[in-house]
Amino acid sequence: MAVMIQRPKGTNDTLPSEVRKWHTVEKITDDIASQYGFKEIRVPTFEDTGLFIRSVGETTDVVTKEMYTVTASGDSQFTLRPEGTAGTMRAVIENGILNEGLPQKVYYRLSCFRHEKPQAGRLREFHQFGCEMVGSASPRADAEVISLAKSVLDTCGLKNIVLNINSIGCKNCRPNYHKALKDYFFARKDELCGTCQERLEKNPMRIIDCKSPVCQEIAKDAPVITDFLCEECSEHFSKLQEYLSAMGIEFTLNPKIVRGLDYYTRTVFEFISTDIGAQGTVCGGGRYDGLLEELGAKPTPALGFGMGLERLIMTMEKQGCDFMEDKKCDLYIAPMSEETVSKAMELAASLRQEGYFVEYDLIGRGLKAQMKYADKAGASFVIVLGSDELENGKANLKNMATGEQSEISLGESFVKEFSDLHLNNMFGSAEADIEALLGGKK
Ligand code: ATP
Ligand code: MG
Repeated sequence: MAVMIQRPKGTNDTLPSEVRKWHTVEKITDDIASQYGFKEIRVPTFEDTGLFIRSVGETTDVVTKEMYTVTASGDSQFTLRPEGTAGTMRAVIENGILNEGLPQKVYYRLSCFRHEKPQAGRLREFHQFGCEMVGSASPRADAEVISLAKSVLDTCGLKNIVLNINSIGCKNCRPNYHKALKDYFFARKDELCGTCQERLEKNPMRIIDCKSPVCQEIAKDAPVITDFLCEECSEHFSKLQEYLSAMGIEFTLNPKIVRGLDYYTRTVFEFISTDIGAQGTVCGGGRYDGLLEELGAKPTPALGFGMGLERLIMTMEKQGCDFMEDKKCDLYIAPMSEETVSKAMELAASLRQEGYFVEYDLIGRGLKAQMKYADKAGASFVIVLGSDELENGKANLKNMATGEQSEISLGESFVKEFSDLHLNNMFGSAEADIEALLGGKK
């Protein structure tokens, strides 16, 4: 036998038995996003490499170490998207969406690619649900976007998620902060990791985000951005806090949150779970008022977040949250011989047309094996089709839960009779549930 080829490190297969978890978060994110008036946008998996360098930032980990860059026939350089904001903003600008009235509110679910060291909660291909709002500079927009993210997490059933917020200032106040950071870190330059020594000149704020324990220890006493905010940024930040309180959203002020991407200004935030270990940030986002201009549009404020769906599902699993159940088979038809197979096909087609979930034997197995299969598929009803049934134009419909058998015509009225019995079955069980409930209360 040939040697098996395995999936690349840091990627996942989502198996049919697990996919309902994804369907659950897909349904919830679709529903919540549309409740807030966000419309879905779909963008390419790869973009011009320059787009990410310009938006995510030349000195970030993502750009310096983590990008999957490919060249096509030697002419252009493309990169598999490491995140969703850059491509989404490129599409918003390129397609003239900015002229369609503001704010524009879009969301996406997409795969992201980062060449990181794979570990729990850190993959090389992962998925994000993201929302972006373009055209509002008001802290109302910040509160709205945070509220949307929170609503998704709540609807997923998550508990113990902490919201951390911070403001990282704007191009007016951040230079003063950078200077203070440089002074602070320069005094301990030799202790910093190699990457941070490089960051010291170009992007000292990144040091605060460094994952190395030594750098983290040194960064503990570093100056905090909130002491350097200009009046406008301060005002924006305190308004946001006021709005969040009004919305009943609890938050923690955390001046150490600077976020890993360069394009952020003012508000940054993270939703953190303590249940999934070191990679606990389920959702991160913030304002990026300078990005659209950087990408060639007229200056336009914007903000958004990215939610890691693997981390979201992991937290839901850890906390025992509910996932949608797979749809169960309504009817399994067991043809007993070749001559009854076409009848099975005909019956299945007529029910499927009405929206029922129907299966029949596709292998040519005996009755026992077929019943085992029907049981595994969770079939509500089973029909066994032999030559007698074919001759009489009638069969027995077996209710798998109760064992009850009802005669059903295989002719014109088949669909109608089946749907009556199916309805009865559902209604019957609801009635039984109510009885059980009442019984329990007495
Ligand atoms: P981290 O600090 O964990 O590296 P980040 O700041 O790089 O996160 P963002 O770029 O803000 O993350 O991406 C938003 C979200 O996407 C994260 O909060 C996380 O849930 C998820 N995410 C980021 N990188 C990965 C990854 N390699 N594997 C799985 N999920 C990820
Ligand atoms: Mg990262």
